[in-house]
Amino acid sequence: MAFKPANNIQDLQYFGEFGGVNPSISDSSTYTFLSAKTMFDTFEGNAEGCYLYSRHSSPSNLYLGEALAAMEGTETATVTASGMGAITAVLLQLCSAGEHVVSSRTIYGGTYAFLKNFTPRLGINTTFVDITQLDVVEAAITPKTKVLYCESVSNPLLEVADIKGLTELAKKYDLKLVVDNTFSPLSISPIILGADVVIHSLTKFINGSSDTVGGVVCGTNEFINDLRNVNNGAAMLLGSTMDSLRSASVLKNLRTLHIRMMQHSYNATYLAEKFENDGLKTVYPGLASHPSHELFKSMMNDKYGFGGMLTIDVGSLDKANALMELMQEDNLGYLAVSLGFYKTLFSAPGSSTSSEIPEDEQKSMGLSDGLIRFSIGLDADIERTYMMMKACMKKLNIL
Ligand code: PLP
Repeated sequence: MAFKPANNIQDLQYFGEFGGVNPSISDSSTYTFLSAKTMFDTFEGNAEGCYLYSRHSSPSNLYLGEALAAMEGTETATVTASGMGAITAVLLQLCSAGEHVVSSRTIYGGTYAFLKNFTPRLGINTTFVDITQLDVVEAAITPKTKVLYCESVSNPLLEVADIKGLTELAKKYDLKLVVDNTFSPLSISPIILGADVVIHSLTKFINGSSDTVGGVVCGTNEFINDLRNVNNGAAMLLGSTMDSLRSASVLKNLRTLHIRMMQHSYNATYLAEKFENDGLKTVYPGLASHPSHELFKSMMNDKYGFGGMLTIDVGSLDKANALMELMQEDNLGYLAVSLGFYKTLFSAPGSSTSSEIPEDEQKSMGLSDGLIRFSIGLDADIERTYMMMKACMKKLNIL
């Protein structure tokens, strides 16, 4: 039977403390115990249903984690203060000094910087590869490798990872396959395809209102307990804990994710097809011209489409900047990083979200100066948006 991630969210039932239709928010950093013995047991992780201290867990964070685990089909999940809080904790939990990561070279700039510049200080080294070439990925694996790391749809180039193929490699070499699914929530379910751990930056589509940063790690009970372990858990000890007020607000937004993703995907498909017909170099996984279009189709939960992210290449950074400024002036969206907002957001990744990646490496991975990354919004009238965008492009001789 097909996996139905949004049904799994809907099927959860929460009652608030006073019968409210939303769970009550746990507005406490610490919790009392009637007996000292229960406090000790809770500290050791043996007292079900008891809370100790909110960096470890809180009722509000557990509710949100439960809903995200249901969405991804994992046993459980832990929420973090940001996507990077989730990524760094997972990688440091899975790798020790002397060990090795094989990572996609086209990943979010912050993750790239962490693996390229920061973890080598701790003796953890990374080989960056073209994740779409399974033979290249396999050749990079060494006896020290512990983790295969990728984004299901990569930021910013929108390369698509073959999660089933990568799962086979992970099994063959006893590695953990960690997938950042931030660009394709609901559309792709990496765990169902065989991944071990799924991460999201909740900052993006899942929260959807660009009012907070947040993250989540979805995985087995064993792994999430390891992350939260008071003695050696990276999530617990590095301390990137989400605040309960925030997790309650993200949970409320999560409930409309399925509707938003359908509209993001509908609008992005409309624009991608038009832009491509107009002769613009357009990358969108929903276009037949995308090298991994068929692969995406073979992995996707149909209903939610190919996502809200697309790129066009307008030839130069100057042109890209002029177009983005003009589109903002015409209220077609914001010149801003991040994604998953109700308004369209656009930025030139080479000089912003991927600027951590050195210029020569940007070139070798195909990240050109004139690339504009769009997070297409929830526009009610995408035809009008297209006509107005086209007028901007004509004005600047891009079309
Ligand atoms: N993963 C991806 C794919 C991202 O695009 C981002 C941020 O842009 C992150 C992770 C980091 O998330 P956060 O900014 O919430 O720390």
